[in-house]
Amino acid sequence: MKDEKGILFILSGPSGVGKGTVRKALFERDPDLAYSISVTTRQAREGEQNGVDYFFKTKDEVKKMIEQGEFIEYAEYVGNYYGTPKAYVEQTLEEGRDVFLEIEVQGALQVKENFPEGVFIFLFPPSLEELKNRIISRGTETEDLVRNRLLEAKKEIEMMDAYDYVVVNDDVHNAVDRIESIVVSEHCKRERIASQYKKALGSVEL
Ligand code: 5GP
Repeated sequence: MKDEKGILFILSGPSGVGKGTVRKALFERDPDLAYSISVTTRQAREGEQNGVDYFFKTKDEVKKMIEQGEFIEYAEYVGNYYGTPKAYVEQTLEEGRDVFLEIEVQGALQVKENFPEGVFIFLFPPSLEELKNRIISRGTETEDLVRNRLLEAKKEIEMMDAYDYVVVNDDVHNAVDRIESIVVSEHCKRERIASQYKKALGSVEL
């Protein structure tokens, strides 16, 4: 229905599970979805662009944004800040477009407190062994960083209980299919659309 607000989807899960790849594949298929570009203090990797992959900022800039309440959530992750700017998300939802966040687990738990009506999707690795191989084979990180990311991943998997849906990333296209089904289902949920139907019926003269 036209005057329906957009839905906030939070795609989260352990580091290395393939959140970025799944998110990109989802957006190739569904350009109407809106992606919330995060702010980070980490260095850009090769090929990453400012304002496309992330907004790359200094620690001082991010601290200022935190003080001014500009984030829906933020987290310190493996020595860097990552945060979701509030203004874009709120405005885009108001326009009736669905917004996707792709964030790590601590941040997702904060979103849950502020946006309980959001839909929380946990992307799950086919196995921990597979997850380890993926983190290692990315090859962009030092051994220490790989170890830290794996430790983080173990903790994150234990946090699955806070989520509405679990999608196993056994194959990117299957994972995207499942996420698309979740989007459709959420738009059909009675709780979300009942008030609009009632409003429409209320204006019918009997
Ligand atoms: P990477 O450095 O590999 O791009 O991202 C590291 C982790 O930070 C990933 O799990 C990614 O999903 C997460 N991340 C990216 N943006 C945000 C954000 O805005 N907030 C939070 N909490 N995590 C984020």
